[in-house]
Amino acid sequence: MASYHIWTIGCQMNQADSEQLAANLERLGYQPAPEIEKADLIVLNTCVVRQSAENRVLGKLDSLKELKRLSPNTVVALAGCMVDSGVDQLKHRFPYVDLFLKPGQFNELLELAKARAPKVSDSVTASAHSPTAFVTIIEGCDNFCSYCIVPYRRGREKSHPIAELRCQVESLAERGVKEITLLGQNVDSYGHDLPEKPGLSDLLQELNSIEGLARIRFLTSHPKDMSPKLIQAVASLEKVCEHISLPVQAGDDKILQAMGRGYTAQYYRQLVEQIRQAIPTVAIATDVIVGFPGETEEQFRHTIELLSGLRFDTVHVAAYSVRPGTLAAKKLKDNISLFEKRRRLQQVEELQSQIASEINARLLGHTLEVLVEGKKKGKWYGRTRTDKLVFFENDANCLGQLVNVEVKKTSPWALQGLPRTSPISN
Ligand code: SF4
Repeated sequence: MASYHIWTIGCQMNQADSEQLAANLERLGYQPAPEIEKADLIVLNTCVVRQSAENRVLGKLDSLKELKRLSPNTVVALAGCMVDSGVDQLKHRFPYVDLFLKPGQFNELLELAKARAPKVSDSVTASAHSPTAFVTIIEGCDNFCSYCIVPYRRGREKSHPIAELRCQVESLAERGVKEITLLGQNVDSYGHDLPEKPGLSDLLQELNSIEGLARIRFLTSHPKDMSPKLIQAVASLEKVCEHISLPVQAGDDKILQAMGRGYTAQYYRQLVEQIRQAIPTVAIATDVIVGFPGETEEQFRHTIELLSGLRFDTVHVAAYSVRPGTLAAKKLKDNISLFEKRRRLQQVEELQSQIASEINARLLGHTLEVLVEGKKKGKWYGRTRTDKLVFFENDANCLGQLVNVEVKKTSPWALQGLPRTSPISN
């Protein structure tokens, strides 16, 4: 039996691409290899958004050199953001790599996989699947935030038509998937490049009617593109979860302008207010970058004030790091010391830990609907509609089920509870 190994690094878009590739390989009769050394086909699905990610890819490529020397028949493919227009250069640097595939473009690999597994029927279906799946609805990004390499590597925005996405989600639901997450670097601009110019709210409306599907999420939203129509869709469509990922990046207008984000802190505050008014149970996650070039102590304080005032459920914080090729790398001096960046990062983390602990403590005694994704250390785990991680014990097999769990213990990062048959108080 032919086998594959996919190594993935980076954003959910890459994870989605890898999941899709794995499903297609399994349809061709391939099985996941128990170890990378035993695989007939190895795919590195790469990310270069951060230098540290690129370094990990280079380390991985290095380790494959010897493997390829010992098993020359193993197919090694390099895919994802590292494979941009400079393929010739990559071929020269990594002569032992057989295929170079641009983000999400796996056809060449699938053709080769098919040729190598000719006796396997196309009707072989994928093995056990998770109850959750990612679905990419829009590729690329048109925004060119000054610190970000994505538009250069993933290209301009390109939406998948609604009919194609409906078909894809229907087939996932038929295979037992209960929750899908619609992905894009900026999902809120979904559809502007399609002939009928549908919006994300139209897509949500369409997918909401799919039988068997219980939950729909989407990420990531761009504050400048989040429309009242989309907020209304989240408020009114029963399968769309009350969870919005809305990166603010900074709380200071000058820094936001230097980042090229296209909104002010005041605009962002009002947007959060509108979302909370329309969807009172909503959980909002955000992203923040600290130590952006030129960020003064006072400007950093504006970010802290915004986070303290808006009290997010989750904050993903990163220290600014130069990404060669971006506008910020060309025009702005990375003048905040590593020590200072770490201090600011830690301050955000401490503040958020306190806020998340208070928000989660309010859930004590509530019964929440949890979609069970797996088992860890003897406990089932899954997520609520608001994306809270919940652990509970149960002898029965709960995988893939929607279980009502009464919250008995909370922390900033997760909830613990007991399964119940009582109604939801989410
Ligand atoms: S919106 Fe900005 S940060 Fe997000 S992918 Fe596009 S350019 Fe990068």
